Amino acid sequence: MAGAFWCIVEDDRQGNPKKVMAEVLGEAARLAGQMGGQAEAVWLTDKATPEGLKTLGELGAKRVWLFESAAFSPYRGEVWTPVLAELAGKEAPQAILGAVTTRQRELMARLAARLGAGLSADCTGLALEDGKLVATRPVYSGKLISKMTWAKAPWLATLRPNVFRPAEPQAGATSQVERPQIAAPAENMKLVERREEASTGLPELAEAEIVVSGGRGLKGPENFVILEALAKVIGGAVGASRAAVDAGWRPHRFQIGQTGRTISPKLYLGFGISGAIQHLAGMRTSKVICAVNKDPEAPIFKIADYGIVGDLFEVAPLLTAEFKKLLEK
Ligand SMILES: Cc1cc2nc3c(=O)[nH]c(=O)nc-3n(C[C@H](O)[C@H](O)[C@H](O)COP(=O)(O)OP(=O)(O)OC[C@H]3O[C@@H](n4cnc5c(N)ncnc54)[C@H](O)[C@@H]3O)c2cc1C
Repeated sequence: MAGAFWCIVEDDRQGNPKKVMAEVLGEAARLAGQMGGQAEAVWLTDKATPEGLKTLGELGAKRVWLFESAAFSPYRGEVWTPVLAELAGKEAPQAILGAVTTRQRELMARLAARLGAGLSADCTGLALEDGKLVATRPVYSGKLISKMTWAKAPWLATLRPNVFRPAEPQAGATSQVERPQIAAPAENMKLVERREEASTGLPELAEAEIVVSGGRGLKGPENFVILEALAKVIGGAVGASRAAVDAGWRPHRFQIGQTGRTISPKLYLGFGISGAIQHLAGMRTSKVICAVNKDPEAPIFKIADYGIVGDLFEVAPLLTAEFKKLLEK
């Protein structure tokens, strides 16, 4: 439908849209509504579930373009992109929105190149001005905020998780489900082996509302249990600085920063992290920043809302015990 704001579905590989979809669909519906259009979802998956489709409808997708085939799993950009490009060529959506996730970062860049369209990556704000979409995005590791618009449609953008207001689910709202007949192209790459990381039992880093993060000050991989204990009590995810990742203390998927994940939780707690510009690039849009560092001159205190000058090995267990007491009340 012309005027449609498409949202590329990010799912949990089990047939359910991820939490960030509430934010992407909420923003799409808000903007499309101002233009007399509608929010629609485009879902490439090997298994869509009825619950997943129900969720998309309740989150405001008036239509779901569903491509369900074994060819779409695992994700491969060279298989997904031509399918999306062909559908976009036929349906001429006004905008195509995605989330800042590992696969959508790549997919949206490929799609923009294929369509000859503009992409605003990692947006923290979107607004319509005189009928044109204007995107706000941090540049130079978050030191500057830039505003940009598009020369032509479709407008492609990826949205930073935890920044946009999520859609309120509307119980009983449903989507019209379309199953377009577009064949997936043959794969160029073959999956040789898939290894699933054991779940930490904690929320996923990019989607977590609370993130507890550790740096070189942790002194070794064994000490991350101190942060995990705190994270468990307050329902947070555990992240790390590049120094901790490069030292082999945490896998790269936990790295926050310019060459890691970009996060925007409600609360960021940094332990033994100095606050290098490249780390700040990945977390400075957190709503509340708390830092624990034994060096009062550590740069992280310049952007922290709350700072504790102290030894993390004393402070973290004390915080865990206090939170436990408070939350058990
Ligand atoms: C191109 C490029 C990309 C990069 N990308 C990233 C990125 O994505 N993410 C990232 O994080 N970094 C990135 N970096 C690295 C970055 O520049 C810093 O080197 C890194 O962030 C430092 O990590 P850190 O704060 O853990 O370590 P340090 O800078 O060594 O800081 C450790 C801190 O711990 C404190 N401390 C020590 N012991 C204790 C204690 N017992 N209690 C409390 N505090 C203590 C110290 O006072 C110090 O401030 C990048 C660098 C480059 C050049």
